[in-house]
Amino acid sequence: MLKKISIRVRLTVLSILTLIVCCVGLTIILNISANRMADVIEATPIIPALEINKESTAQTPPPISMIPLSPSKESQIARTNFLYQSILYMLLVVATGGGITYFVSGKALVPLRELSNQMKNRTIHNLSEDLPVPVSNDEIADLTGSFNQMSNKLDEAFAMQKRFSQSAAHELRTPLTVLKTKVDVFNKKKEHTADEYDKLLSVITTHTDRLAELVMDLLDLTNMDALDCNEQIELKALLSDITQELAPLAWEKNIVVTVEGTEKDVPGNKSLLHRAFYNLIENAINYNTEYGEVHIRVEDASGQGLVTISDTGIGIPTELQELIFEPFFRVDKSRSRQMGGAGLGLATVKTIIEKHNGSVTVSTNEVGGSCFTIQI
Ligand code: ADP
Repeated sequence: MLKKISIRVRLTVLSILTLIVCCVGLTIILNISANRMADVIEATPIIPALEINKESTAQTPPPISMIPLSPSKESQIARTNFLYQSILYMLLVVATGGGITYFVSGKALVPLRELSNQMKNRTIHNLSEDLPVPVSNDEIADLTGSFNQMSNKLDEAFAMQKRFSQSAAHELRTPLTVLKTKVDVFNKKKEHTADEYDKLLSVITTHTDRLAELVMDLLDLTNMDALDCNEQIELKALLSDITQELAPLAWEKNIVVTVEGTEKDVPGNKSLLHRAFYNLIENAINYNTEYGEVHIRVEDASGQGLVTISDTGIGIPTELQELIFEPFFRVDKSRSRQMGGAGLGLATVKTIIEKHNGSVTVSTNEVGGSCFTIQI
């Protein structure tokens, strides 16, 4: 129930409760000490008699003691009046304190209410516009700053989601359009030769394979959560194996691939890491020039595995280096498509490396090629 009450009322109730506890304590203490004082005032002093037969000058006077008397009627009335008055003042203090708290908290919460109204007016269309941060260096300014940061991130996420849906739709539409056109043309003729059947089947197979691959890649991007990442993996051995697998592709383009550095074991999922490094090395060969080179290096960076894959290829423009990890993003669309890539390779690499609590970045190396740095 308390959750449904506004902060203003909650603050008032809390301050009233605090005031009640303090005032009741104070009233009790005041009444006890007032009663004690009245008892002392009303007590009769008793002075013991001096013995006459002794030399009175040499004697020290005996201590005076007080005899408590039962309170008189007037005293009882005064005590009761004091009790009632102190209770009345206590109630007055509590009521005034509660009222002041209600008023002051209402004033203090005005900026919060204004901020809440501004937040309510945020929609998907104005998420990138920052709310004005108050000049006061207080919690409201902090909250506004955090809200601005969050809505900027949301705006980025929405933009990315939009790009993703557009690209996915485009990628899926292309093979479907080809298939539909081919089938329509085929249907226009009544009779077909065996060669025409073969050609149609070959087109259907190529494009359905492409569609299946695309759908599998998309599913893989989102289905990695359940996989175990606790195997011990020798990075250098894994990279050497992948280089062997890709040797025919490298030979085709006369590209030399080298693996150097130290042995480094990292915990992870072998098949996922194999896939990530396979994609990176395959790209380093694909986007390379004839007689180019790919240098792979493994290092131990303060306990973490550090892998660099550097090539002598075409490189990636600096302004696009962040974007290439987005699904379906390709620098040169026609060239990548020729190589059969849908632009999901690096997005998969990023997802896999992040699943291993690592990071992947790209930069341009000294010969203008790309250098991917992976930290796990
Ligand atoms: P694709 O399937 O098209 O290769 P990726 O996600 O693997 O998709 O790569 C995205 C884009 O990044 C590629 O289309 C290419 O333009 C660029 N790219 C990736 N790796 C390299 C590289 N080593 N050198 C130059 N460009 C690269």
